[in-house]
Amino acid sequence: MSFQNPVFIPGPTNIPDSVRKACDIPTIDHRSPAFARMFKPAVEGVRRVLKMTEGEVILLPSTGTGGWEAAVTNTLSPGDTVLAARFGMFSHRWIDLCQRHGLNVQIIETPWGQGAPLAAIEAALKADKTGTIKAVLATHNETATGVKSDIGGIRRAMAAAGHGAMLFVDGVSSIGSMPFEFAGWGVDVAVAGSQKGFMLPAGLAILGISPKAIAAMDTARLPRTFFDFKDMLTSYARGGFPYTPPVGLIAGLAHAIDLLEDEGLENVYARHHRLAEGVRRAITAWGMSPYAVSPDLYSDTVTAVKLPDGCNGTDLVQLAASKYGVAFGVGLGEVAGKVFRIGHLGSLTDVMVLSGLATAEMCMADLGWNIRLGSGVAAAQEFYRGTARSLALAAA
Ligand SMILES: *Cc1c(COP(=O)(O)O)cnc(C)c1O
Repeated sequence: MSFQNPVFIPGPTNIPDSVRKACDIPTIDHRSPAFARMFKPAVEGVRRVLKMTEGEVILLPSTGTGGWEAAVTNTLSPGDTVLAARFGMFSHRWIDLCQRHGLNVQIIETPWGQGAPLAAIEAALKADKTGTIKAVLATHNETATGVKSDIGGIRRAMAAAGHGAMLFVDGVSSIGSMPFEFAGWGVDVAVAGSQKGFMLPAGLAILGISPKAIAAMDTARLPRTFFDFKDMLTSYARGGFPYTPPVGLIAGLAHAIDLLEDEGLENVYARHHRLAEGVRRAITAWGMSPYAVSPDLYSDTVTAVKLPDGCNGTDLVQLAASKYGVAFGVGLGEVAGKVFRIGHLGSLTDVMVLSGLATAEMCMADLGWNIRLGSGVAAAQEFYRGTARSLALAAA
């Protein structure tokens, strides 16, 4: 029965039953009006979640990684320079993808546990007198370290430098669970994936693109076919897709956005903040701390728990899976073994989080770590019971 357990990996996330049902539809002709009727609310919903005032939404049969690729191949040419800070596995992978596409990545190496370095970004842009840098890449929520970066701050740094680069944001593990301001932050390409904040199975890359990013296509020479935004937009205008769309996922996306909006996006974000804070109270009670170096960087969607010497996070993750049928995230790259990660995004409640914390404690005790059973759970319980809003009141 372990399939009944929630997952605590930072994606894919738990899928609400109603979302699974919404995805389960018979074959429909994707060139029919029935598809157009289902497609439009999904696109319009994404526009609201991203807080877009202009530009377009693109849905690709892919994942977040394909969204990265689409962002750069549609807007850039071989040899173009992009600016990116590297402070975790996901910022690293986007940089690697750019390099493999023949882009010149100006990398600001930043210690893991920190976020996007605003002063260094501003300095790099100021130093670029000839406008060589075509785009700034930013990882909103570094899923490897549980670090959130200040995207509005990056836009302000770009403005302070008077630089005209585009701003591309990886919001794969933030969008739908943490506030995102496409228009407010002047984002040119935002990338999300279906299997994180949108609570769906993997299979869709979800993008917002600005008029500036669309205009960049006119001169962008990187090869693209499957991910070509203009092909997509031409077909969208006719209510369809340039090829066979994952119709079930698109139906599910429209429903998932209904769930987010029924709860209210602000309430969804407040819920994630509260759930995350309970997790942080628990790990403090364990005598541990988040890997993120300061509270302003703490992610509300994933916590990388920094472990004392002698404790290996991968052991905990393996034991949780094999003995209790519960999934946590391992440490990736340079924090392999040094952390384990608790994903707390998507479809999740206090009660579910408490079960994850309790399982982590059992594993720690099993592994002989210095832990008192119930200590972290109690700290989270105190926080949750002190901050819970009555459901009856919430419904009123
Ligand atoms: C999960 C994730 C990705 C990769 O997405 P896939 O859907 O696995 O391709 C990229 N960036 C961040 C921040 C992520 O959390």
